[in-house]
Amino acid sequence: MPRTLAVANQKGGVAKTTTVATLGAALAELGQRVLLVDLDPQACLTFSVGIDPEDLDKSIHHVLLGGVRARDVLIELDGAPDLLPATIALATADVQLARESGPEQVLRTALRPLRTAYDWIIVDCPPTLGLLTVNGLSAASDVLIPLQCETLAHRGVGQLLDTVHDVQRLTNPGLHVLGVLPTLYDGRTTHARTVLETIADTYSLDVLQPAIPKSIRFAEAPAIGETVLSTAPASPGAKAYRALAGALLY
Ligand code: ADP
Ligand code: MG
Repeated sequence: MPRTLAVANQKGGVAKTTTVATLGAALAELGQRVLLVDLDPQACLTFSVGIDPEDLDKSIHHVLLGGVRARDVLIELDGAPDLLPATIALATADVQLARESGPEQVLRTALRPLRTAYDWIIVDCPPTLGLLTVNGLSAASDVLIPLQCETLAHRGVGQLLDTVHDVQRLTNPGLHVLGVLPTLYDGRTTHARTVLETIADTYSLDVLQPAIPKSIRFAEAPAIGETVLSTAPASPGAKAYRALAGALLY
Protein backbone atom coordinates (compact mmCIF):
# COMPACT_ATOMS: atom_id res chain seq x y z
CA MET A 1 0.00 0.00 0.00
CA PRO A 2 1.35 3.44 -0.84
CA ARG A 3 1.50 6.12 1.78
CA THR A 4 -1.01 8.69 0.65
CA LEU A 5 -0.26 12.17 1.84
CA ALA A 6 -2.88 14.93 1.65
CA VAL A 7 -1.29 18.38 1.71
CA ALA A 8 -4.04 20.61 2.99
CA ASN A 9 -4.71 24.10 4.30
CA GLN A 10 -7.68 26.17 3.16
CA LYS A 11 -5.48 29.25 3.23
CA GLY A 12 -3.94 30.01 -0.18
CA GLY A 13 -0.29 30.89 -0.67
CA VAL A 14 1.10 28.74 2.15
CA ALA A 15 3.16 26.53 -0.23
CA LYS A 16 0.86 23.52 -0.56
CA THR A 17 1.54 23.14 -4.27
CA THR A 18 5.25 23.87 -3.89
CA THR A 19 5.45 21.25 -1.14
CA VAL A 20 3.64 18.61 -3.23
CA ALA A 21 5.88 19.20 -6.26
CA THR A 22 9.18 19.49 -4.40
CA LEU A 23 8.64 16.82 -1.76
CA GLY A 24 7.38 14.48 -4.50
CA ALA A 25 10.50 15.14 -6.57
CA ALA A 26 12.71 14.58 -3.51
CA LEU A 27 11.03 11.22 -2.77
CA ALA A 28 11.46 10.24 -6.44
CA GLU A 29 15.18 11.08 -6.17
CA LEU A 30 15.33 8.58 -3.33
CA GLY A 31 14.02 5.89 -5.67
CA GLN A 32 10.41 6.04 -4.54
CA ARG A 33 7.60 5.59 -7.07
CA VAL A 34 5.53 8.76 -6.67
CA LEU A 35 2.18 9.92 -8.01
CA LEU A 36 1.10 13.55 -7.59
CA VAL A 37 -2.62 14.33 -7.65
CA ASP A 38 -3.78 17.84 -8.54
CA LEU A 39 -7.13 18.48 -6.82
CA ASP A 40 -7.10 22.25 -7.27
CA PRO A 41 -9.23 23.76 -10.10
CA GLN A 42 -6.51 26.40 -10.48
CA ALA A 43 -4.29 23.54 -11.71
CA CYS A 44 -1.13 25.21 -10.39
CA LEU A 45 0.53 21.85 -9.73
CA THR A 46 -0.21 20.74 -13.28
CA PHE A 47 1.28 24.00 -14.61
CA SER A 48 4.26 23.76 -12.31
CA VAL A 49 5.40 20.42 -13.73
CA GLY A 50 5.31 21.94 -17.21
CA ILE A 51 1.89 20.88 -18.48
CA ASP A 52 -0.69 23.32 -19.83
CA PRO A 53 -4.11 22.17 -18.61
CA GLU A 54 -5.65 23.73 -21.72
CA ASP A 55 -3.94 21.03 -23.80
CA LEU A 56 -5.59 18.21 -21.86
CA ASP A 57 -8.86 16.64 -22.86
CA LYS A 58 -9.05 14.48 -19.73
CA SER A 59 -8.20 15.26 -16.13
CA ILE A 60 -8.89 14.19 -12.57
CA HIS A 61 -12.32 15.73 -13.09
CA HIS A 62 -13.23 12.92 -15.50
CA VAL A 63 -11.91 10.38 -13.03
CA LEU A 64 -14.03 11.76 -10.19
CA LEU A 65 -17.18 12.41 -12.19
CA GLY A 66 -16.96 10.78 -15.62
CA GLY A 67 -16.18 7.16 -14.85
CA VAL A 68 -12.74 7.42 -16.50
CA ARG A 69 -10.00 5.26 -14.97
CA ALA A 70 -7.17 7.08 -13.20
CA ARG A 71 -4.60 5.14 -15.21
CA ASP A 72 -6.11 6.48 -18.44
CA VAL A 73 -5.58 10.07 -17.30
CA LEU A 74 -2.26 9.96 -15.52
CA ILE A 75 0.76 11.50 -17.18
CA GLU A 76 4.18 9.87 -16.90
CA LEU A 77 7.05 12.31 -16.80
CA ASP A 78 10.71 11.50 -17.39
CA GLY A 79 12.73 11.39 -14.18
CA ALA A 80 9.89 12.96 -12.20
CA PRO A 81 6.79 11.78 -10.37
CA ASP A 82 3.71 10.82 -12.39
CA LEU A 83 0.79 13.25 -12.34
CA LEU A 84 -2.98 13.07 -12.25
CA PRO A 85 -3.62 16.52 -13.74
CA ALA A 86 -6.35 19.04 -13.03
CA THR A 87 -8.17 21.43 -15.33
CA ILE A 88 -10.53 24.29 -14.65
CA ALA A 89 -13.38 21.79 -15.17
CA LEU A 90 -12.78 20.88 -11.52
CA ALA A 91 -14.27 24.22 -10.50
CA THR A 92 -17.76 22.69 -10.53
CA ALA A 93 -16.71 19.37 -9.01
CA ASP A 94 -17.70 20.25 -5.44
CA VAL A 95 -21.30 20.80 -6.52
CA GLN A 96 -21.39 17.76 -8.81
CA LEU A 97 -19.76 15.46 -6.25
CA ALA A 98 -22.47 16.36 -3.76
CA ARG A 99 -24.97 14.56 -5.99
CA GLU A 100 -23.01 11.28 -5.97
CA SER A 101 -23.61 8.59 -3.41
CA GLY A 102 -20.69 8.44 -0.99
CA PRO A 103 -19.35 11.75 -2.31
CA GLU A 104 -16.41 11.81 0.14
CA GLN A 105 -14.94 8.52 -1.05
CA VAL A 106 -14.82 8.99 -4.81
CA LEU A 107 -11.09 9.73 -4.97
CA ARG A 108 -10.23 6.91 -2.60
CA THR A 109 -12.10 4.44 -4.83
CA ALA A 110 -10.52 5.86 -8.00
CA LEU A 111 -6.98 5.51 -6.63
CA ARG A 112 -7.42 1.95 -5.38
CA PRO A 113 -6.42 0.26 -8.68
CA LEU A 114 -3.11 2.17 -8.61
CA ARG A 115 -2.09 1.04 -5.16
CA THR A 116 0.57 -1.46 -6.26
CA ALA A 117 2.12 0.98 -8.77
CA TYR A 118 3.30 3.59 -6.24
CA ASP A 119 5.10 3.97 -2.94
CA TRP A 120 3.73 7.50 -2.40
CA ILE A 121 0.64 9.33 -3.57
CA ILE A 122 0.70 13.04 -2.72
CA VAL A 123 -2.51 15.03 -3.06
CA ASP A 124 -2.51 18.80 -3.59
CA CYS A 125 -5.74 20.02 -2.00
CA PRO A 126 -7.48 23.24 -3.08
CA PRO A 127 -7.67 26.25 -0.74
CA THR A 128 -11.14 25.35 0.54
CA LEU A 129 -12.66 22.88 2.97
CA GLY A 130 -15.19 21.63 0.42
CA LEU A 131 -15.75 18.16 -0.98
CA LEU A 132 -12.53 18.11 -3.01
CA THR A 133 -10.44 18.58 0.12
CA VAL A 134 -12.62 16.10 1.99
CA ASN A 135 -11.96 13.61 -0.85
CA GLY A 136 -8.22 14.22 -0.49
CA LEU A 137 -8.42 13.63 3.27
CA SER A 138 -10.63 10.57 2.87
CA ALA A 139 -8.14 8.99 0.44
CA ALA A 140 -5.12 9.74 2.62
CA SER A 141 -3.15 7.84 5.22
CA ASP A 142 -1.58 11.09 6.43
CA VAL A 143 -2.27 14.81 6.30
CA LEU A 144 0.48 17.42 6.22
CA ILE A 145 -0.42 21.05 6.94
CA PRO A 146 1.89 23.66 5.45
CA LEU A 147 1.83 26.80 7.55
CA GLN A 148 3.30 30.19 6.93
CA CYS A 149 4.42 31.43 10.30
CA GLU A 150 2.99 34.91 10.40
CA THR A 151 0.46 36.60 12.60
CA LEU A 152 -3.05 35.23 11.96
CA ALA A 153 -1.63 32.04 10.39
CA HIS A 154 -3.52 30.15 13.07
CA ARG A 155 -6.84 31.47 11.86
CA GLY A 156 -8.36 28.52 10.07
CA VAL A 157 -6.16 25.83 11.60
CA GLY A 158 -8.93 24.95 14.06
CA GLN A 159 -11.45 24.73 11.23
CA LEU A 160 -9.12 22.53 9.18
CA LEU A 161 -8.62 20.23 12.17
CA ASP A 162 -12.42 20.08 12.67
CA THR A 163 -12.70 18.87 9.07
CA VAL A 164 -9.92 16.32 9.66
CA HIS A 165 -11.74 15.05 12.75
CA ASP A 166 -15.02 14.76 10.79
CA VAL A 167 -13.22 12.70 8.14
CA GLN A 168 -11.66 10.51 10.84
CA ARG A 169 -15.06 9.97 12.40
CA LEU A 170 -17.07 9.41 9.22
CA THR A 171 -14.95 8.02 6.42
CA ASN A 172 -11.31 7.46 7.31
CA PRO A 173 -10.59 6.51 10.93
CA GLY A 174 -6.94 5.74 10.11
CA LEU A 175 -6.13 9.27 8.93
CA HIS A 176 -3.01 10.43 10.76
CA VAL A 177 -2.07 14.07 11.24
CA LEU A 178 1.61 14.17 10.39
CA GLY A 179 1.91 17.74 11.62
CA VAL A 180 2.50 21.28 10.46
CA LEU A 181 5.32 22.09 8.07
CA PRO A 182 6.64 25.62 8.57
CA THR A 183 6.96 27.18 5.11
CA LEU A 184 8.25 30.50 3.82
CA TYR A 185 10.09 30.41 7.12
CA ASP A 186 12.32 33.19 8.30
CA GLY A 187 13.92 31.70 11.39
CA ARG A 188 15.91 34.87 12.03
CA THR A 189 12.80 36.52 13.39
CA THR A 190 11.69 35.50 16.85
CA HIS A 191 8.21 36.35 15.59
CA ALA A 192 8.10 33.35 13.22
CA ARG A 193 9.33 31.03 15.97
CA THR A 194 6.79 32.37 18.46
CA VAL A 195 3.87 31.99 16.04
CA LEU A 196 4.92 28.43 15.29
CA GLU A 197 5.25 27.45 18.95
CA THR A 198 1.90 28.99 19.79
CA ILE A 199 0.12 27.11 17.02
CA ALA A 200 1.80 23.80 17.83
CA ASP A 201 0.88 24.17 21.53
CA THR A 202 -2.67 25.39 20.96
CA TYR A 203 -3.61 22.52 18.68
CA SER A 204 -1.22 19.82 20.00
CA LEU A 205 0.36 19.43 16.58
CA ASP A 206 3.80 18.08 15.76
CA VAL A 207 6.08 20.48 13.94
CA LEU A 208 7.84 18.80 11.03
CA GLN A 209 11.56 19.40 10.58
CA PRO A 210 13.25 21.06 8.92
CA ALA A 211 11.32 24.27 8.31
CA ILE A 212 11.31 25.32 4.67
CA PRO A 213 13.19 28.61 4.39
CA LYS A 214 11.79 31.58 2.52
CA SER A 215 13.69 31.97 -0.75
CA ILE A 216 13.17 33.71 -4.07
CA ARG A 217 14.39 30.48 -5.72
CA PHE A 218 10.95 28.96 -5.25
CA ALA A 219 9.31 31.50 -7.54
CA GLU A 220 11.53 30.68 -10.54
CA ALA A 221 11.34 26.91 -10.76
CA PRO A 222 7.66 26.23 -11.61
CA ALA A 223 7.74 28.69 -14.51
CA ILE A 224 10.00 26.26 -16.37
CA GLY A 225 8.34 23.07 -15.15
CA GLU A 226 11.04 22.27 -12.60
CA THR A 227 11.50 22.29 -8.85
CA VAL A 228 14.29 23.90 -6.83
CA LEU A 229 15.87 20.46 -6.61
CA SER A 230 17.04 20.90 -10.21
CA THR A 231 17.15 24.70 -10.61
CA ALA A 232 19.00 25.37 -7.34
CA PRO A 233 20.14 21.97 -6.07
CA ALA A 234 22.46 23.33 -3.39
CA SER A 235 20.04 25.98 -2.09
CA PRO A 236 18.78 25.81 1.50
CA GLY A 237 15.24 25.28 0.16
CA ALA A 238 16.26 22.24 -1.90
CA LYS A 239 18.18 20.84 1.06
CA ALA A 240 15.21 21.33 3.36
CA TYR A 241 12.78 19.41 1.11
CA ARG A 242 15.37 16.63 0.62
CA ALA A 243 15.78 16.38 4.38
CA LEU A 244 12.01 16.27 4.85
CA ALA A 245 11.73 13.46 2.29
CA GLY A 246 14.48 11.55 4.10
CA ALA A 247 12.75 12.08 7.44
CA LEU A 248 9.46 10.75 6.07
CA LEU A 249 11.17 7.66 4.68
CA TYR A 250 13.52 6.60 7.43
P1 ADP B 1 -0.51 27.25 -2.20
O1 ADP B 1 -0.55 26.02 -3.05
O2 ADP B 1 -0.66 26.95 -0.74
O3 ADP B 1 -1.47 28.30 -2.64
P2 ADP B 1 2.03 27.79 -3.50
O4 ADP B 1 2.83 26.55 -3.38
O5 ADP B 1 1.36 28.03 -4.82
O6 ADP B 1 0.96 27.89 -2.33
O7 ADP B 1 2.98 29.00 -3.13
C1 ADP B 1 2.51 30.34 -3.14
C2 ADP B 1 3.63 31.25 -3.63
O8 ADP B 1 4.71 31.22 -2.71
C3 ADP B 1 4.20 30.80 -4.97
O9 ADP B 1 4.50 31.94 -5.73
C4 ADP B 1 5.48 30.07 -4.61
O10 ADP B 1 6.44 30.13 -5.63
C5 ADP B 1 5.92 30.82 -3.37
N1 ADP B 1 6.69 29.98 -2.43
C6 ADP B 1 6.44 28.72 -2.04
N2 ADP B 1 7.33 28.30 -1.14
C7 ADP B 1 8.19 29.33 -0.95
C8 ADP B 1 9.35 29.54 -0.12
N3 ADP B 1 9.81 28.58 0.70
N4 ADP B 1 9.96 30.74 -0.18
C9 ADP B 1 9.49 31.72 -1.00
N5 ADP B 1 8.43 31.59 -1.79
C10 ADP B 1 7.77 30.42 -1.77
MG1 MG C 1 -1.86 25.49 -4.57
